[in-house]
Amino acid sequence: MKDTQELTKIIIVGGGTAGWMTAAAFINRLPKNFCQITLIESSQIGSVGVGESTIPHIRQFNQNLGIDEKTFIQQTDASFKLGIRFRNWRQIGDDYIHPFGEVGAITNGIEFHHYWARAQQLGLESDFEDFSLLAKASRQGLFSDPAIVNQSQFCNYAYSYHLDATKFAHYLKNYAIERGVSHIDAKVISVEQNDVGDITSIELDNDTQLSADIFIDCSGFSSILLGKTLNSDFEDWSHWLPTNKAIVAQSELVEHSLPLTTATALPAGWQWQIPIKQRMGNGHVYCDSYMSDDEAANLFRQNIKSKLITEPRLLSFKAGVRPQSWKNNCIGIGLSAGFLEPLESTSIYLIQHSIFKFLEYFPNKQNMQAERQQFNDEINKTYQTIRDFIILHYNLNNRDDNGFWVHQRQMELPESLTFKKGLFAESGRVKPGQFGVWPSVCIGQGLTPQYPDARINYLSKQQLEEFLRQEKQKIAQTLKQLPPAHEYLTKIYQEVSCD
Ligand SMILES: Cc1cc2nc3c(=O)[nH]c(=O)nc-3n(C[C@H](O)[C@H](O)[C@H](O)COP(=O)(O)OP(=O)(O)OC[C@H]3O[C@@H](n4cnc5c(N)ncnc54)[C@H](O)[C@@H]3O)c2cc1C
Repeated sequence: MKDTQELTKIIIVGGGTAGWMTAAAFINRLPKNFCQITLIESSQIGSVGVGESTIPHIRQFNQNLGIDEKTFIQQTDASFKLGIRFRNWRQIGDDYIHPFGEVGAITNGIEFHHYWARAQQLGLESDFEDFSLLAKASRQGLFSDPAIVNQSQFCNYAYSYHLDATKFAHYLKNYAIERGVSHIDAKVISVEQNDVGDITSIELDNDTQLSADIFIDCSGFSSILLGKTLNSDFEDWSHWLPTNKAIVAQSELVEHSLPLTTATALPAGWQWQIPIKQRMGNGHVYCDSYMSDDEAANLFRQNIKSKLITEPRLLSFKAGVRPQSWKNNCIGIGLSAGFLEPLESTSIYLIQHSIFKFLEYFPNKQNMQAERQQFNDEINKTYQTIRDFIILHYNLNNRDDNGFWVHQRQMELPESLTFKKGLFAESGRVKPGQFGVWPSVCIGQGLTPQYPDARINYLSKQQLEEFLRQEKQKIAQTLKQLPPAHEYLTKIYQEVSCD
């Protein structure tokens, strides 16, 4: 057992988004007289340098760390995001938005999509997206402070950011170092373990050896501690999520971009557009069994209408997770623990989730077994839930233009997804925690519940028509109060530079 007087030594290996988010959160949350945190990164190796589209949970991360929003926006070149626009997913020519938050209001305890589905059955055809304030605002390029919107009964108003990944890591690096995290630029070249497999120390290429009680592996895809040293198994999910490459580059910004990430389906994958303050992030994610790297690169360039400002880079990856992302005294956070492609911008969220779960189960003795088990179970469930949601986008398609899409439509799904998809198709029900995300993607890709909630069967066609009219009117009134997103953002940048 450790002497209670002794500081708990924590070493974080890796200074990408995962490493610096972890260092910043730990130094903020763990008492100074309790632990000593050191982050080691190798500037020779560098970081993956992508990961620019986020989901609303990042605001909670910032709030927890006491980060001022306007400063954050300014320091990371951020812009606002209200959702993701999916083009050509169900079939070529289709275009729907998965907005943040819920579509429509929950009325009498019943989610809006039940009312909408019932209305469709009664011949009251309408576009589901028309009942989302955020979808409407984003298509019109509008954005505002939630305070204005909340006054108009939209309590589920949610937003996040597009940001520069390198600047985000840099901002958190300053935050962490200012508060006491030690930083070493060196490469880990070997790892020592004791007889039960715990990591005892690491050797760096500057001839130093460092020991610690807890090692956090944020070394990215190389997973040098969790994967290479501890041999924590990797569960391969690439048979469900076969995209394995991405070509990425930045281009000049198209003026007044919409506050949306755009995901355009292509013959063997999809291409993203992420507008930040002064440039566009672009990436073509594809499966190289269905498209060569040269074809993918050509298509990537054709789809970018503005001038490239960086050389295209090719990244390779494999979908999957290490079910034991906490093994012995080492916890993998970020790409070292698993990878799910960026279709729903969930990786930074997974980093945040792992950090706070670990803090919740922070071990107080050397036998970490119970905490470890609980942590691994919860993290795995989260990975699986997101995995299923991403597969769903590919699976709900009617495209025949490439074997890739036919395979995605016909393949055997994970049991958990078969159940969830069937549940929604039959009754519009979603599992807890999935409301807000499932209906807009399912309906956007043509899966409408067959038997919506029976508790609304009493509503006549006229009553439903009136209900839908009022919902639309509420949105139309609120939209009038929202300024253009670019004006709102410019004001924030000006305010910060005046401070
Ligand atoms: C194509 C693509 C697009 C993505 N888009 C999004 C997105 O839009 N939204 C989102 O949320 N996420 C996205 N992600 C995921 C996101 O990029 C990562 O989750 C995030 O960047 C975290 O990466 P990381 O810190 O785990 O790894 P990295 O950024 O690779 O950092 C690894 C760190 O480890 C260090 N290191 C490695 N080996 C050693 C060693 N031997 N000694 C010392 N240091 C070492 C490196 O120097 C580096 O600092 C995307 C990922 C890919 C591949």
